[in-house]
Amino acid sequence: MLYESTRGGARNVTAADVIKTGIAPDGGLFVPMETVTFSSEDIEAIKEMDYRERAVKILSPYLDDFGLSKTREFVYNAYNNVKFDDERIAPLVKLSDQLFAQELWHGPTSAFKDIALQILPYLLVESLKKANDGKEAVILVATSGDTGKAALEGFKDVEGTRVIVFYPENGVSEIQKRQMITQEGGNVYTIGVSGNFDDAQSGVKAIFTDKELIGRMHGKGLAFSSANSINWGRLVPQIVYYFSAYAELLSMNEIENGETINIVVPTGNFGNILAAYYACKMGLPVNRLICAANENNVLTEFIVTGIYNRNREFKKTISPSMDILISSNLERLLYDMSGRSSSSVLNWMTRLAEQGTYTVDDGTHRKISELFWSEYSDERETLKTIKSIYDEFNYVVDTHTAVGIDVYDKYVISTGDLRKSVVASTASPFKFNRSVAEALLPGETIEGKSEFELLNILSQELGLRIPPGLKGLDAKEVRHTAVCSPDGMKEQVEKILGL
Ligand SMILES: *Cc1c(COP(=O)(O)O)cnc(C)c1O
Repeated sequence: MLYESTRGGARNVTAADVIKTGIAPDGGLFVPMETVTFSSEDIEAIKEMDYRERAVKILSPYLDDFGLSKTREFVYNAYNNVKFDDERIAPLVKLSDQLFAQELWHGPTSAFKDIALQILPYLLVESLKKANDGKEAVILVATSGDTGKAALEGFKDVEGTRVIVFYPENGVSEIQKRQMITQEGGNVYTIGVSGNFDDAQSGVKAIFTDKELIGRMHGKGLAFSSANSINWGRLVPQIVYYFSAYAELLSMNEIENGETINIVVPTGNFGNILAAYYACKMGLPVNRLICAANENNVLTEFIVTGIYNRNREFKKTISPSMDILISSNLERLLYDMSGRSSSSVLNWMTRLAEQGTYTVDDGTHRKISELFWSEYSDERETLKTIKSIYDEFNYVVDTHTAVGIDVYDKYVISTGDLRKSVVASTASPFKFNRSVAEALLPGETIEGKSEFELLNILSQELGLRIPPGLKGLDAKEVRHTAVCSPDGMKEQVEKILGL
């Protein structure tokens, strides 16, 4: 498979080069030049397989330059019961006759980002080997809270790599912050930014495309790469679990092969739902992709109207991993839906950068709104959903997953569509435990308690096991204390790299 940039500046790039560089040199995002198709026989075949074999089957056409045996080796290294606390990797839980939750948070950091970030280091190290230019990869990460920890954990002490994570200093949960600032490993750096996720992401993108800095890096044998979902290597492992969910529904005799389902994804940077879109494009029988937003509902407005407008107040919500106004991966969808028009994409992205808003043409908008459906959930509704899911199904969801389920309920009310639907459960309820406790436990039980105390309280009150990665966090030594302004990010990178 060869890849090209959404902005027209690069074509015929190998998977290894795409993964190594992360972002295309013209500032666009790499996309596959051909469509991989998966027939109903292929789907029938993966029904009998475990998660790992499903992953090998789905990943190998995208990673053909790595070879099948390497791909298999990487998959087996990433997805096993040392790294994941459930050997099914992404188990599907039946909530009602219509709705199923796919738990994507059984990895080391308790959010779905692990599924991609446990395998990405293998892909990246192999890509560096193939390039054979002796360069060390400097992985810059902007995080809204979960990617940062998952990248630190995936890349810690991986030879030939260094990781620098920027997180919004006051925009993540206590647990998320503590996970990152206590990170061990000789090649990892975590820095707080006095701004929001969009500031951190824009800062990282600017550093990535800073020609003068890149020149100095090359002189020192260093090259940038990305562990954000702008890197194709982050997205492609996420396609696997949507096929896996469908295969599980088949095994559970919930659907017939070929029957369409809906997929509901709590969305921020549009990475996870884009992977669902690619699955659909490959042949996964999908009726609607339901894009669930929180009060930072730029995407809902876009899907409904065709107007993307980030010029609005940034809201800090109880689903912080979705507090994003510039959803990078939408660019890949726009490329496809505009008939692969790099000139249109370039035009829209330039407007977004200069004016903060753009409007797509009617044809593109129509195609998007035929497949995607979107609504948002405010904080009161999100908390209410956590409570009602618990009362109805004796099942505990985190705030992000609750946004997904609330929006799914709105979809059913609006359309009457009762076909089987899968909601991506993106984080463990323990990771955002203050809001979960607030929704489920009496005020006097939680008053004045820290998130670390709440871990134990939630576990006792609800009879649930605390994920191993979240246990004992408060007793761990703080190792990263640096903070900078969005303008100071470049200087931090220079300092760390000795430039
Ligand atoms: C990252 C994240 C999201 C949003 O995913 P995108 O790929 O950015 O759309 C949703 N929920 C959780 C828990 C996350 O960590």
